[in-house]
Amino acid sequence: MARVGSLGRLALGVLYPPACLHCGADVVQHGLLCAACFGRLRPVVVPFCKACAVPQVSSAMLGVTGLCPACERHHPQWGQARAAFVYESVARELILKLKYADQIDNAAFLAPQMVRIGQDVLVPNALVVPVPVHRWRLFRRRYNQAAVLAHGVAKLSGLPCQPDVLVRVRRTVPLASFSRQARWDEVAQAITLRPSRQGLVHGRDVVLVDDVLTTGATAAACTRVLLNAGARSVSLLVAGMVPARAESDLDRVD
Ligand SMILES: [Zn+2]
Ligand SMILES: [Zn+2]
Repeated sequence: MARVGSLGRLALGVLYPPACLHCGADVVQHGLLCAACFGRLRPVVVPFCKACAVPQVSSAMLGVTGLCPACERHHPQWGQARAAFVYESVARELILKLKYADQIDNAAFLAPQMVRIGQDVLVPNALVVPVPVHRWRLFRRRYNQAAVLAHGVAKLSGLPCQPDVLVRVRRTVPLASFSRQARWDEVAQAITLRPSRQGLVHGRDVVLVDDVLTTGATAAACTRVLLNAGARSVSLLVAGMVPARAESDLDRVD
């Protein structure tokens, strides 16, 4: 929270005129997109599946449960999922530059959009927890982009954020090319709970925050750890969701 706040103040104090976060065109205020870039975003709006956050062409695709056919067959590990944007075009660039190019101001734009879509999972007294990165990665990149988003979401929602509940105990290799089982094995052993935080999680609704929902393997591993620690529910809130995803690609309860 302090980090986003101090950076926000820093952004307000700079001497150059406000520029679009994506293309650098003039805008009226720091932290915004120009109209052209804003128009290229694809916000997730209803109808979308409540369990995997995938937008649907028609609400007829969702059953009475509000789930897409794939989630009705096999529900993901977490209870509900919400994504602010489809991960493509300008949204993809904003998220990638938050992650790899130190454009931390992008989080100040993305977090309110996550709160917009996540209102009904950001319930009173929920604990906001970011997906962890390994400390080596933290050392290289200086911050965890999921934690920056989690702090922003928590601050805007008036909820507590606890960034060190989950720990990534070993580095994982990029997962996209792995088989479903190999992904699960790789990630499941990489995420643990910080024992001193178990009391915070027990009996609590937890909102797990990440930048992107791709295969869901990491989020599923985090969810299992949180549920094992006694969390009452785990919801997933992300800035972007990858639209084209084979059903078998999302790690689900078997
Ligand atoms: Zn622009
Ligand atoms: Zn679904």
